[in-house]
Amino acid sequence: MAILEIDHVTKHYGILEVISDLSLSVEEHEVICLIGPSGCGKSTLLRCVNRLEEISSGEIRIHGDRITGPGVDLDRLRRDIGIVFQGYNLFPHMTVLENTMLAPTKVLGMPRREAEEKAMAFLNRIGLAHKSGDYPDRLSGGQQQRVAIVRALMMNPMVLLLDEITSALDPELVSEVLDIVRDLAERGMTMLLATHEMGFAREVANRICFLQSGKVYEQGPPAEIFGNPKGERTQAFLRSLK
Ligand code: ADP
Ligand code: MG
Repeated sequence: MAILEIDHVTKHYGILEVISDLSLSVEEHEVICLIGPSGCGKSTLLRCVNRLEEISSGEIRIHGDRITGPGVDLDRLRRDIGIVFQGYNLFPHMTVLENTMLAPTKVLGMPRREAEEKAMAFLNRIGLAHKSGDYPDRLSGGQQQRVAIVRALMMNPMVLLLDEITSALDPELVSEVLDIVRDLAERGMTMLLATHEMGFAREVANRICFLQSGKVYEQGPPAEIFGNPKGERTQAFLRSLK
């Protein structure tokens, strides 16, 4: 069953069409990696799904419910669809624990004790329980990004959007973040991620979507896209990475 449906979506910035009549369905438990050249629209697409940007036309649905257009409960939407960005975006004046507890206590009205237990369980799982009282500037970039993922998971999202979450990290910190994503994939989390970690995309994704000029130019299983890409643009893009 499709949990997220992006249905003929177009997005303009002024006269620039950044997403062009793009349709994409994400099945429950599916991990889809968006790849493509810089500027092809990966971030814009993810931001539209979370309503950080408004689409110009088309429709996006989650579990069959329209989440674009007027009358949508944005709190509910952002609870159902988590997003993690390239920059860690933790609140600098809050400890790790406070960062992770903020949304569930404020938005869901979760009792503080319950939020704390839940946060500590997640932090434990990612090996950062001992950092719970620290401020973000005491953590490495990789640790901060892992906390940002925990913060998103605290809302029990149905879908997690990840936008180049390792691209601001020193190379030696990339794998500790990707390990968490791999773990989430194994636990059945539905994810739509933009990445330029092709080895990782190949390993973790069920489907690769190559975007070109705001369109899905080619999509398929990783073995097909990386092993035997059909489109000329896909071939050229993958060649350019070597
Ligand atoms: P990607 O994430 O694939 O690199 P983006 O979605 O960031 O691509 O950008 C797609 C296109 O939209 C680019 O041409 C970019 O310059 C443009 N763009 C992105 N955000 C804005 C904005 N806020 N205003 C105008 N143009 C934008
Ligand atoms: Mg981007």
